Amino acid sequence: MGFQHKAFLAKRGNMKVVVIGAGIVGLLTACRLKQQGADVVVLEKGSIGKESSWAGAGILCPIHPWLYPDSFSSLVNTSLALYDDLDAELQSSTGIDMQRMKSGLLIPCFADDKQNHEEKAVSWSKAFDWQLEILSATQAGQHEPSLSTELNQALFWPDVYQVRNPELLKAVQALLQSLEVPIIEQAEVVALNEDSSGQVMGVFLLDGTMIDGDAVLFAAGSWSQGLAEQSGFTLPVLPVKGQIVLVQANPENTLNHIVKHDDAYFVPRRDGKILVGASMENVGFSEGNTVKGVHSLLSAVLKLVPGLSDCAIERQWMGFRPGSPDGLPFLGPIEGKRGLWVATGHYRNGVALAPITANVMASWILGESPKLDMAAFSPQRTIVPNKELGYPKA
Ligand SMILES: Cc1cc2nc3c(=O)[nH]c(=O)nc-3n(C[C@H](O)[C@H](O)[C@H](O)COP(=O)(O)OP(=O)(O)OC[C@H]3O[C@@H](n4cnc5c(N)ncnc54)[C@H](O)[C@@H]3O)c2cc1C
Repeated sequence: MGFQHKAFLAKRGNMKVVVIGAGIVGLLTACRLKQQGADVVVLEKGSIGKESSWAGAGILCPIHPWLYPDSFSSLVNTSLALYDDLDAELQSSTGIDMQRMKSGLLIPCFADDKQNHEEKAVSWSKAFDWQLEILSATQAGQHEPSLSTELNQALFWPDVYQVRNPELLKAVQALLQSLEVPIIEQAEVVALNEDSSGQVMGVFLLDGTMIDGDAVLFAAGSWSQGLAEQSGFTLPVLPVKGQIVLVQANPENTLNHIVKHDDAYFVPRRDGKILVGASMENVGFSEGNTVKGVHSLLSAVLKLVPGLSDCAIERQWMGFRPGSPDGLPFLGPIEGKRGLWVATGHYRNGVALAPITANVMASWILGESPKLDMAAFSPQRTIVPNKELGYPKA
């Protein structure tokens, strides 16, 4: 280790980073920043981990991954490979179990499906090293007796995991506490503090308080577009509402794997409940579950997994995914504003992508260029809206 590297470490040790947003992206990045020697503070306009990161289904695999560019598949694969270590780290340092389990994921295929995914799914799985099994209708029925008998065949990925989002958030919060990183709730950031040369010097809160920092990370989820506008740049992130219904399964009427078809999915949890998700609605920040949203989820149960029709409904909730026009996150520095970084727009994949986002962003902010090619996720990239991956029309 030469003199230069020591000097670099010393500089990193002094750096103060302000993280805006206590969702999974902000919280985990704050952990990695602190572990690499930075002083960190997390600012949260509401309560810790109560927005999209809390509401999500926790499936650790993109919906129809073959629709995404290869750069995204590589990023997600690298991220998922970090989950073993993250799980072990959180369990050993906090004692909290994120309830990660290998559920496998099954896509039933019907004769009247608008899209036949088989060919693309097979070549994507080969290219990105995911084991895929093609099941006959009989085999699919043996795996999942609650499935519709109308299906022709099914695609099955045995190695797909899920986590329980609230437990993951609790564990990361506990790790931050043990690292003595302050998380300030009810602290809404309304403006950047920057000098006339464009160097970021911190942020201002709604009540006028100034919080200084050498670097600022926007991890504000669905609220990032407004925050960017207030700070003088553009970030096309829109909230995409997702509604979820939770049902209580029983040993005769249950699922063994995650089942997914088009936008509907069913996630069997360790506690015997099944999460039915999720709507995709471009309706701004309109809160609450709706008759239409819940009806379409329950219709999907009747059509796809009729064996669950008699399950009791436990509760429902919703969240706002931070959607981008091309379905890809925005990760990196903001040109023209030295010290300003963003990590947002993770849309449907923020939990799957959180480990790599946190590792890359923390090192990058502290001066180490990423080893992965991040050009596809640059906040300054030319955006080509994607009908299948981007946010839906209003
Ligand atoms: C129904 C649903 C299902 C999903 N299923 C999955 C899935 O199966 N797998 C998967 O990987 N992903 C899934 N997702 C997506 C995933 O949950 C998100 O991509 C991820 O949670 C985004 O994390 P985040 O930290 O960026 O955002 P958030 O969790 O929304 O956190 C952002 C935080 O920033 C705070 N904030 C905003 N503005 C300010 C401000 N001005 N000042 C201070 N704080 C501010 C907010 O209050 C919020 O707490 C799902 C999402 C939903 C809604």
